Amino acid sequence: MIVAKRKPLDEIAEMIAPYEKVAIIGCRSCVAICLAGGEKEVKMLVSAMKLKNRKDGREQSLDGFVLERQCEKEWVKEVEEKILDSDIVLSMSCSLGTQTIGDMYPHRIVVPGLNTAIFGVPEEQGLWSEKCLGCGDCIIDTTGGICPIARCAKSMLNGPCGGSSDGHCEVNLDIECAWYAIHERLKLQNRLELMEYVRPPKNWSTSHSGGRRIIVREDAKLTPHQKRGQEVLE
Ligand code: SF4
Ligand code: SF4
Repeated sequence: MIVAKRKPLDEIAEMIAPYEKVAIIGCRSCVAICLAGGEKEVKMLVSAMKLKNRKDGREQSLDGFVLERQCEKEWVKEVEEKILDSDIVLSMSCSLGTQTIGDMYPHRIVVPGLNTAIFGVPEEQGLWSEKCLGCGDCIIDTTGGICPIARCAKSMLNGPCGGSSDGHCEVNLDIECAWYAIHERLKLQNRLELMEYVRPPKNWSTSHSGGRRIIVREDAKLTPHQKRGQEVLE
């Protein structure tokens, strides 16, 4: 899932301060699960902002609501009226939702209430860890299912580096060395010979280094006939 964290209240207050009518829009997907931008967090932010405004003597209308998925235009369309009726939208989704609203209504001001951080998994209550950088060419079949791109500080394809110490990473001793973890996993699977396999240099053009990426699935696209049908329904 995409893991995000709410921006500090003062930063949010500064972004929306010049505007009278603020639409605060959350999302019921990843950011709700990581406790950053779901129903509860939107309500909490609205209350916190009202208190702050009272203290600072500022008049502002704050309307908070939550969409099923803010990165899908169909869901955003359902609240179009509220968006168009506001002076500014404070998006409480990951930046994909924020940019979806911004792209749909380019004349509106849409600002992020969250800092979008990682592709991660919840390890325990209140703790998420990064497991993938979306490189576009997955190689974890050769690394025991552990991603060295995301989990090694140097994204080494062949490790460990000389700094690995007692299973910890030299860059941050609180963090497990990814290549130590890979070694242990391969040992468990009786596949230690993979530690000696030399992974060739990676083709990074499938990663963000090759510029903005677009995924196309021709088989999932609408035919011209289906598109016309959709236009008629709309
Ligand atoms: S190898 Fe690439 S796609 Fe696979 S988990 Fe790592 S970053 Fe993600
Ligand atoms: S110590 Fe391990 S995780 Fe840290 S940079 Fe070296 S190989 Fe990567």
